[in-house]
Amino acid sequence: MGQIAVLDQNMVNMIAAGEVVERPASVVKELMENSIDAGATKITITIEDGGRKLISVTDNGSGMDAEDSARAFEPHTTSKIKTSKDLRAISTLGFRGEALASIASVAQVRAVSRRTDSPGANCIEIDCGNKGSISPASSDYGTTIQVRDIFYKLPARRKFLKTANTEIGHIIEHFTRIALANGHLDMTLIHNGRELYRLVSQQDLRQRISELFSSELAENLLEVENNEKGIRIFSLMGRPSDSRTSNKFQYVFLNGRFIRGKFISHAIKEAYRGNIEPNRFPVVFLFIQMPYEDYDVNVHPTKIEVRFYNTNLVHSQVLGTLREKLLVTNLQTQAKLPSATSAAKAEVPQAGHRSREIADAMAEFFRKHKPIPTQQQFTREPTDAEWATKYKVKDTKYESLQTQRKFIQIHDSFIIAPTDDGFIIIDQHALHERIIYEILSKRLRESKLESQRLLIPESFELTEAQIDVLKSNTGLIEKLGIELVPFGPRTYAVQAFPTLLAKAIPVDFVRDLIDLLDCKGAILDTQGLLNEVLNMAACKAAIKAGQKLSDNEIEQLLADREKTEFTGRCPHGRPTTIKFSIAELQKQFKRT
Ligand code: ADP
Ligand code: MG
Repeated sequence: MGQIAVLDQNMVNMIAAGEVVERPASVVKELMENSIDAGATKITITIEDGGRKLISVTDNGSGMDAEDSARAFEPHTTSKIKTSKDLRAISTLGFRGEALASIASVAQVRAVSRRTDSPGANCIEIDCGNKGSISPASSDYGTTIQVRDIFYKLPARRKFLKTANTEIGHIIEHFTRIALANGHLDMTLIHNGRELYRLVSQQDLRQRISELFSSELAENLLEVENNEKGIRIFSLMGRPSDSRTSNKFQYVFLNGRFIRGKFISHAIKEAYRGNIEPNRFPVVFLFIQMPYEDYDVNVHPTKIEVRFYNTNLVHSQVLGTLREKLLVTNLQTQAKLPSATSAAKAEVPQAGHRSREIADAMAEFFRKHKPIPTQQQFTREPTDAEWATKYKVKDTKYESLQTQRKFIQIHDSFIIAPTDDGFIIIDQHALHERIIYEILSKRLRESKLESQRLLIPESFELTEAQIDVLKSNTGLIEKLGIELVPFGPRTYAVQAFPTLLAKAIPVDFVRDLIDLLDCKGAILDTQGLLNEVLNMAACKAAIKAGQKLSDNEIEQLLADREKTEFTGRCPHGRPTTIKFSIAELQKQFKRT
């Protein structure tokens, strides 16, 4: 007898749900997209327990009549395409007709909807694919869909959900993407009764970025526009000095749809080439508009990837537009003053009277205490004398080097020094990075890093998601010797910073640290994460390539090299030192 059976419809939906409904954030995304397709101008999202308990999306869009409400939760039902011709030019966010059916197959769903031309609303409930009957209800125009206890009949998938903090972080990410692409929308996000975002409609993009990220980031963005060859590009692009450790802050939209793709990322990277370190990523908000017929969105279940018919053209337009803007802009980094001004700005609209008073008092304090040369203790180069006395090394090799001065620095990047049987070339940055890495890990193994209080705390803004990251990593941050204190709504200040990282700029460091914890926190174990953090710290605190060193500094570096284990490679695995033997030289010069 044959083994093959046709799966029943509920099984088919559950399998489809595996692709579309990865976690609560995917539900939020699908529901918000449906609201936008329904022409809504206002969307309110209410979440409980990271979406585990409740996801509710209310809109003021077109609504559904009773017949449509009943049908919408069936698989492959959509009002957005009718014929195969429609598939060739999709202007809506949805079209596959599987989101609602998938969601309703893995949770308890209740939908209440009312069309603008209807005297009353209708209500339908579906419990993991078991559909109840339609009943009348009372409600405003529009649609509310509530999704409760996601995956409650699929314990394996429910177990896979992360903490409420992590899940709400993913939800905020989707909220952010939709908010960036839809300035006309009034959008609110509430988690466990707390309002995380309330964005008013008709907001200018820069203002929206300021509310979703920070005013500091928004103010520094460069604006560029281009309309050529059927492709309209608009971008608010970050300065190279505002780069990040991952490409998470690259938001690319194609006709209002958030997309990711190798080609666009590559174009962005190329545009910034030479202006940014190879392992850093620029912040970019990029909006591309082109005819719907010129690309295919039907290549990925979540529609995050698209296929352009003329990839090269899109690539060159994006690259050219961004690159040109960077070429005509003076990118000289401005000296960073401690955050007296941003402290004054800490009063965002929701700021209460009390926090405003505190912010004012702080700003006044900063004004009185300017200029602030003391801050330099964290960024200035140590003097030769300080270098020499820093470790008080009494190493015989070091002393003989010192007296004989047998080394040179070339191109302000490499040090050449003789050895007993030849000579070595040292990459000053790579070696110093390794040394700092070793010192940091040794100290951390023993206790926490020693820190020094900043005379003037440096303040910076964070998003709600970043604040959650910060809160879930307080132990690690404390161990690193970093002290952060709340300093107004969505604003924190660095109050103490590790002495060993004196060369790094505290606010930049903390920002990168949070990005790193955000991106890698969920995928790495504690040890792996700590390792990444130490790598980053060492890289930031190390002498740079291109930095002229005094004799004392070079001597110190060579002495530290002798004292440190594993100096052969930098923490990223690149060699720090290349050895040449006399024998090899003699061979090259045909002396043997
Ligand atoms: P798709 O969006 O791909 O069409 P969905 O399963 O997400 O598929 O939705 C099915 C249909 O239900 C949509 O085509 C639309 O007609 C209707 N619908 C879903 N959500 C809403 C909403 N918020 N307002 C009005 N109609 C909706
Ligand atoms: Mg949809």
